Amino acid sequence: MTARRPRIAAIGLASWDTLIAVDRYPGPGGYVEVAATLSAPGGTTTNTAVALARLGAEVTLRAVIGDDELGQTMRDHLAREGINVAGVTIRTGEPTDASTIIVSQQPPDRTILWHRGAMIVKGDQLDIAGLFGHDVVILDMDDMPLRRFLSDLPAHTRPDVRILGTLTYLVDAGHADLLDVALRCDVLVGNERQFCQLTCVERPDLALSQITDLMRGAQLRTAVMSQGARGCAIATQTDRWQIPAFPVACVDTTGAGDAFAAGIAYGMALRWDWPRTGRFANAIGALAIRALGAQTTLPTMAEVQALLNAHRGL
Ligand code: ADP
Repeated sequence: MTARRPRIAAIGLASWDTLIAVDRYPGPGGYVEVAATLSAPGGTTTNTAVALARLGAEVTLRAVIGDDELGQTMRDHLAREGINVAGVTIRTGEPTDASTIIVSQQPPDRTILWHRGAMIVKGDQLDIAGLFGHDVVILDMDDMPLRRFLSDLPAHTRPDVRILGTLTYLVDAGHADLLDVALRCDVLVGNERQFCQLTCVERPDLALSQITDLMRGAQLRTAVMSQGARGCAIATQTDRWQIPAFPVACVDTTGAGDAFAAGIAYGMALRWDWPRTGRFANAIGALAIRALGAQTTLPTMAEVQALLNAHRGL
């Protein structure tokens, strides 16, 4: 697709997933038969990093793992995927972050039980010059002081770097200044629920309008809202695009948003226009949900290209 390799830094969470697939959720006190299980690398930032590496991007990850076997397995896995893991450090005395995820078919949904473990926080050593020397820096951390610090930096360090902020941990933390911190990114990516939570608006389309109103005078230029099986909506101060999803047999949507975010980062790094970037991200999101596990079917560029070619009219 392109000769130039995008250079992307991702700062955030490394986590391990245990997935349990069931046909339907049992009610409280009920029981249900397990259809399949999988123990595999996951974690929002690491999912995005692996997606980018499989597409051929040059990826640097900054995250913290525990001093356990899981952490070592994770680091080896990320290195095998071709990610620069020199900045993936071990926190002594803490376990690696992990999630138990229950994936149901009817309704198609997932429920996450989080085993909070080692995570990057403000005060952890960061090679600021190196990280902000990439085309795009993805901020996906749970720690608000660190996010505040990093989203304030580019204006003073590298004004040409573009910051992609995810909403995952930002909105769940519920800090009073979360909107202010979000508006300091160049681009925000999140799902409908997260944009509604961010703006305290109930309807996703109105949440997107609210965020574009707030772009005036802010660093934020573009809001990218993923919409599951409906694709995505992208809004700038002057334009809005509705980009349909690709038809795909969905098995497990765990990590779909992280895969989608990788597509957005990739397009940003190469300065593609938004319709092209949104379509590309939709393709990666669609290809990511074909099997159980967040990283199992993250596609190569050839697979993405094949899907795009097969649906030229979309
Ligand atoms: P999250 O996992 O963060 O809730 P979404 O469910 O919105 O994110 O999924 C992210 C992206 O993955 C969507 O914008 C879409 O491109 C793709 N996607 C998700 N579910 C489907 C689906 N059932 N069919 C096709 N594409 C999907």
